[in-house]
Amino acid sequence: MDRLRNKIRDIPDFPKPGIVFKDITPLVKDPATLRLAVHQLLHPFLGRDITAVAGMEARGFIFGSLVAWELGIPFVPLRKPGKLPYDVQSVSYDLEYGSAELEVHIDAVDSKDKVLLIDDLLATGGTAKASCELIEKLGASVVACAFVVELDFLNGRGNLQGYEIHSLLHY
Ligand code: IMP
Repeated sequence: MDRLRNKIRDIPDFPKPGIVFKDITPLVKDPATLRLAVHQLLHPFLGRDITAVAGMEARGFIFGSLVAWELGIPFVPLRKPGKLPYDVQSVSYDLEYGSAELEVHIDAVDSKDKVLLIDDLLATGGTAKASCELIEKLGASVVACAFVVELDFLNGRGNLQGYEIHSLLHY
């Protein structure tokens, strides 16, 4: 896991003063480390009954689509409002200041689907919780949520009680 950790860089005061942003771009720039991260993300789910992978805009698209491709199952993008061209289901959730929304195409998954949710990072868990709700609004079930990085001190897990969570790195 040191190989992964060494490719995640801290950016102080981004996007605002006091926040130390975990930048995963050095990791995705290095093919061998990216491959390792993708394999570690999907490893616990090999042989499990998973029919689709959903990823949150934008960095969830990187890891999610690679995991879906490796598993040979569909990738479902969960997007910020107004980006998806077809009919959408949406969910709104609270941020520290204000609120945000995520959308998914109404035909992306259905009641037969068992979804693995992937994002780069779990912080407060607000984004992941909203993503689970969105998938469930379409009648599908969430098998687990997997992240490259989990910021333990923000207790995102507390927001995701009842869901299986798998994180590669803890800070
Ligand atoms: P949460 O909703 O507070 O758990 O924040 C998680 C979302 O914000 C994820 O979609 C992340 O991509 C993004 N995010 C928050 N902090 C960071 C960070 O330090 N590095 C990369 N992404 C972050």
